[in-house]
Amino acid sequence: MSTAFDQLHIEHNAPISTWFHIGGGAQRLARPTMGEELRHCLELDDELRVLGEGANLLVDDDGITDLVVSLQQGAFTDCQIDEKTGLVHAGAGVALPGLINRCVRSGLGGLEKLAGIPATLGGAVIMNAGGAFGELSQFIVQVEAIDRAGRTHAYDRVSIDFGYRQSLLNHLIITGVVLQLEPGDPDEIARSRAECMKYKAQSQPLGDKSAGCVFKNPTLIEPIEDIAEAGQRVSAGMLIDRTGCKGLSVGGASVSQVHANFITTSADARASHVIELIEQVRHRVLDRFGVSLDTELVIWSKNKEPAS
Ligand SMILES: Cc1cc2nc3c(=O)[nH]c(=O)nc-3n(C[C@H](O)[C@H](O)[C@H](O)COP(=O)(O)OP(=O)(O)OC[C@H]3O[C@@H](n4cnc5c(N)ncnc54)[C@H](O)[C@@H]3O)c2cc1C
Repeated sequence: MSTAFDQLHIEHNAPISTWFHIGGGAQRLARPTMGEELRHCLELDDELRVLGEGANLLVDDDGITDLVVSLQQGAFTDCQIDEKTGLVHAGAGVALPGLINRCVRSGLGGLEKLAGIPATLGGAVIMNAGGAFGELSQFIVQVEAIDRAGRTHAYDRVSIDFGYRQSLLNHLIITGVVLQLEPGDPDEIARSRAECMKYKAQSQPLGDKSAGCVFKNPTLIEPIEDIAEAGQRVSAGMLIDRTGCKGLSVGGASVSQVHANFITTSADARASHVIELIEQVRHRVLDRFGVSLDTELVIWSKNKEPAS
């Protein structure tokens, strides 16, 4: 008897597409189109890794042996928008920028504050993507997910411990999300989107190959004179800039001149260059300010930390 997942094709030695445009590939990559196929992927490898837009991801030069799964097709890209209530139900593979545009056209406000962030909805949930104007968790009503045993779950917003650039949901595979947006005037919402985009374009190297901010903004344990008191969150980019790292490079990877928390890559860059540069920047900030920076960037390597 043939089943839905008999159709599931596994690509071998497939490239992994990331916004850095570098790094190794996947020994096995699958593109399930529905929950049943995703469950079949879990039967093949319950440590599989989920690829979103690859906008916050560096893949080690040696590539990945775990099964890599992309959800950017089929039922995972379904999206229903209720213009009257402002409720949006979208699959994890839906591209955030496209969803923002649809919501703006439908006169639904809120999500436009995240304009300019490349992501799938699943990746944006996992990272609690956001910036100067807000973060995704503000709009979440419910997150739908599958655990590694293939069981389906739905979590209300209140039961999820969202924090700054984290959801603590990394052990799950996000399959969909329900958002509550605010019905309003499409022209006003479009203006708000334009302002967010303008701010981003002025402050970040959006034309270069990068993965956004490499480090999380740290909360200070000790005060730093002329910078901030203990307990305050400060800009990692500002600390990096003050150590004179702008322009620092290793091979084809450089600290951006526009925003010191961005590492940009040229065509000859290797993932090892980015990793080495991250370590150099981290050491300089630690030496100068005594602050240990945590990466926001997700790094996939064969010698892994568990699927992140
Ligand atoms: C130019 C540029 C600007 C950026 N600006 C911002 C910004 O302003 N604010 C911000 O927050 N980020 C920013 N980023 C980083 C990036 O856009 C976000 O982190 C985004 O949320 C990543 O989503 P993704 O789909 O690309 O995830 P990926 O990078 O593909 O994956 C990131 C992590 O999420 C996991 N993941 C992805 N999808 C799923 C899923 N369905 N289920 C379970 N796990 C999943 C992956 O396994 C991985 O661990 C920027 C990046 C770039 C390149």
